[in-house]
Amino acid sequence: MRDSNDALWFDPTLCLIGGAWTGTAETLPLVDPSDGSEICRIARGGAPEIDAAVAAAEAALSGEWGRMTALDRGRVLTRIGQLVLERVEDLARLEAMDVGKPLTQARADAVALARYCEFYGGAADKVMGETIPYLDGYTVYTLREPHGVTGHIVPWNYPMQIIGRSVGAALAMGNACVLKPAEEACLTALAFAHLAVEAGLPAGALNVVPGLGAEAGAALSGHPGVHHISFTGSVATGALVQQAAGRNVVPVTLELGGKSPQLVFDDADLDAALPFLVNAGCQNAGQTCSASSRILAQRGIYEAVKERMAAAYGELTVGPAMEDLRVGPLISDRQKEIVTGFLEKGADLTIAGQGRIVDHAPEAGAYVRPTLFADVPPEHTLARDEIFGPVQVLIPFDTEEEAVRIANGTDYGLVASIWTRDGARQMRLAKKLRAGQVFINNYGAGGGVELPFGGVGKSGHGREKGFEALYGFSQLKTVAARHG
Ligand code: NAD
Repeated sequence: MRDSNDALWFDPTLCLIGGAWTGTAETLPLVDPSDGSEICRIARGGAPEIDAAVAAAEAALSGEWGRMTALDRGRVLTRIGQLVLERVEDLARLEAMDVGKPLTQARADAVALARYCEFYGGAADKVMGETIPYLDGYTVYTLREPHGVTGHIVPWNYPMQIIGRSVGAALAMGNACVLKPAEEACLTALAFAHLAVEAGLPAGALNVVPGLGAEAGAALSGHPGVHHISFTGSVATGALVQQAAGRNVVPVTLELGGKSPQLVFDDADLDAALPFLVNAGCQNAGQTCSASSRILAQRGIYEAVKERMAAAYGELTVGPAMEDLRVGPLISDRQKEIVTGFLEKGADLTIAGQGRIVDHAPEAGAYVRPTLFADVPPEHTLARDEIFGPVQVLIPFDTEEEAVRIANGTDYGLVASIWTRDGARQMRLAKKLRAGQVFINNYGAGGGVELPFGGVGKSGHGREKGFEALYGFSQLKTVAARHG
């Protein structure tokens, strides 16, 4: 462990359960992927801690938290958002150290976390039911009620954003949350919990139990006292979580990544498109569920796209997160092995462009060179599987129909974008593309706290972000009153 760790203003070995910071019998190492050093130890929560956290959440629902009005829940969330904004720099440094995310990107995540708290804070008292015209002598209306105890299993790639979008919406609707952050990156989850306590969130409304997926994660997803689960991560683990929740007949929201395409037509404004084409592939070292890992370019513009993207790749520098270059390390040696394995599977392909790892990057850091492959057949592994690293493939196409066929030709369907000046084509393709979000002449729309987000196919089901998440984190009750 490092001798001094100024960035840590709290004890990272503790869980938050029922408003108390509690230790675990064992701890786990937390590694800085920029240099392979141990940052600190973290709690190794397991079934006992999850049991206690679920019980604390249940108690909160019948205590102060459960009695709070929607307005007051919104006020607490808004206060948490204000504290997050005051600590943006501290949170960004924690995330950069923990995830390996360049500081500028980590800062943007902290600001997004604050924005989620503001958005859901403001929305908490604006979720309304309906009255339904019915038989003579009846008045029928609906109520939106919390599920109860909600489980939140969060990955390591965007801890702050994913906590904001799921815990923020769940708290707004009056649920009590048990959050299981990833074992590779949990510092900002703990920091967020400290700020929530400081903002006056009642005990038990938010419980945080770090630990291994197979221990704390499995205990949470199969817990009979949990009423809803939100999971973001891999397809394989998502399927396990859904099975475990299914045994308790509990609804799940799954966000499982993708192989999101950008379609560039001959008439596209390439100057406008270029930064989006490259950035959507290398942001967070490509470890983004909505990363755009496939660029489909029409034959007439294909060579220009290839040349300009290759030049942009030549400018990409990779190094320690704190140096705030364009690309940081991957999260871990394990992730580096996965991505390197994919690069080896591309040995039969043409490399059009590559980024550069700075000479002084520590040997023990999890660095890979961002790589752009050209002329990739759509059926190639690199064009079909989620790589989760800074790797993009360029695929040529001739017709609109072919572009749609290739774009829709993977198991995933999270995000897609269309670059064209042809308005009719924009509308046509927005309908035809199999994705939860479609962007026209942009990619990602600047994060989009307000925009419902989620996948089709193996990208998952359910929607988070925006107002839609508030429906997902609540259930509808219909009241039918007969009064004659
Ligand atoms: P993972 O899905 O195994 O882990 C995500 C979260 O699930 C973590 O909090 C983990 O502790 C927890 N978890 C693990 N096993 C569990 C279980 N049996 N029950 C309940 N929870 C469990 O992902 P990973 O192993 O960190 O990464 C593997 C691959 O997943 C990556 O290479 C990438 O392709 C993909 N991934 C996708 C996303 C995304 O945002 N969609 C995020 C992370 C990883």
